[in-house]
Amino acid sequence: MLTVDIITLFPEMFTGVFESGVIGRAMGKGLIAIRVHDLRPFGIGRHRIVDDAPFGGGDGMVMMAEPVARALENILGEERESTRVILTTPQGKPFCQEMAQRLTEEERVAVLCGRYAGVDERVRQFLVDEEISIGDYVLSGGELPAMVIVDAVVRLAPGVLGNEDSPLNDSFPERLEHAQYTRPRAWRGHSVPEALISGDHERIRSWREADSERRTMERRPDLMKRVKKNAT
Ligand code: SAH
Repeated sequence: MLTVDIITLFPEMFTGVFESGVIGRAMGKGLIAIRVHDLRPFGIGRHRIVDDAPFGGGDGMVMMAEPVARALENILGEERESTRVILTTPQGKPFCQEMAQRLTEEERVAVLCGRYAGVDERVRQFLVDEEISIGDYVLSGGELPAMVIVDAVVRLAPGVLGNEDSPLNDSFPERLEHAQYTRPRAWRGHSVPEALISGDHERIRSWREADSERRTMERRPDLMKRVKKNAT
């Protein structure tokens, strides 16, 4: 079973996020465990300080290494060795479906959420296994990235999605999914592609395959090129 530990200064941000839908059901069934931990109690001194001014000067505060180290030691203990510790940072490897897939193979994943101007460089050097960015923009904290990463990973974990919404046809890594339609057949004069209401499974399958390929070529030709490149 996949266990996820999230370490954050704003645990309340996670309230409700993982309780709904697919992830909530998976937790209810005991297929995965997600735990959110407050970093504050691991802060330094009576005031549980977690940040300080940057050496060399400059704007903003920097998260100190020691509270993060203490949090990891306390929360993971002997499980540290079997845990993939991830730091959320705009300077990390851009997150993608293949990375989500790979993380489902881990026993445990811990996600560190940065705040302020970021974290002391020594956290990256000595405490984490991997740095992940969710895109080329800067957010005010690592909480939303942690939610994105955990959602993408957990829905791929064994048994989480039922057959009816299996991830097999989903978009990525190498193509976009075909278009989807639901009732009514004709909506304000616009009808559903003929093949999809033909009842002919082979026709439906080949319409979907062609649509998926056409959309990928039109919108994201880079995905197809990437697969070819990876194959060589
Ligand atoms: N000054 C830093 C950014 C700090 S943003 C820099 O320019 O590199 C504060 C925190 O938000 C980061 O520590 C990180 O945890 C999170 N964060 C912001 N943007 C992110 C992104 N695109 N992907 C992942 N985490 C991000």
